[in-house]
Amino acid sequence: MFTWENTWKEIEDSDTTIAVVPIGSTEQHGTNLPLASDSIITARVAEALADSLNAYLTPIIPIGTSPEHMSFRGTLTLTDDTLKAVLTDIIHSLTKSGFKTIIVVSLHGGNYVLWSYFISQLGKQFPNASLLVADLQHAWDEAYKGAGFTTPSMHADECEASLIASLRSDLVGPHAIDFPNPKDQLKGARLDPVGFPLDVREVSPWGALGEPSKGSREKGDLFWEVFLRIAVQDVRRQAGL
Ligand SMILES: [Zn+2]
Repeated sequence: MFTWENTWKEIEDSDTTIAVVPIGSTEQHGTNLPLASDSIITARVAEALADSLNAYLTPIIPIGTSPEHMSFRGTLTLTDDTLKAVLTDIIHSLTKSGFKTIIVVSLHGGNYVLWSYFISQLGKQFPNASLLVADLQHAWDEAYKGAGFTTPSMHADECEASLIASLRSDLVGPHAIDFPNPKDQLKGARLDPVGFPLDVREVSPWGALGEPSKGSREKGDLFWEVFLRIAVQDVRRQAGL
């Protein structure tokens, strides 16, 4: 695997033409998890993929689209158009220096442009490369079951608290404030087309949509063990590698 800590020559001499591009977010994750949660989680998966493919892991884009969290201090958001422009420029850079397979990885569900028509249009701009947004849903579902999570996954919940506890326990604070049964509690709220609140603070004043107090490092470790293994298999298949 190669990163921006390598030289251009090391990357060129390796003959790798695969790049992995992680995109995270900087957004509130309740009262006990860091703003960087999605970026930390995304970086871990991207690293595992790049490692298995001996690919160039680009620096993470640490800000995504997070308009629904903007009423919590510290959250940063790009507009859809900015994220599209940044991604286009990065892919342009990679193809110009010879990369042929570009795999975009994001575990921030709110980066909606990554799962939109825009991506297939973007791919057409670069006919000499293949562009893939990693589909990690199957790996996520399998790992979710494997880790024994009991509550549905939404935001700053049991699952995310466990994943961060496993990767960066030093960043998990002691004062989790739960928001149980988010689906029921969101009835009547202003929601986007995928059922996420348009303004999280309007429904959950402390920011969680789930029960972060139920998270644990043990569950997180179990999740990662299954998730990384299946994610690598799935993405290799999706990319035809
Ligand atoms: Zn998150």
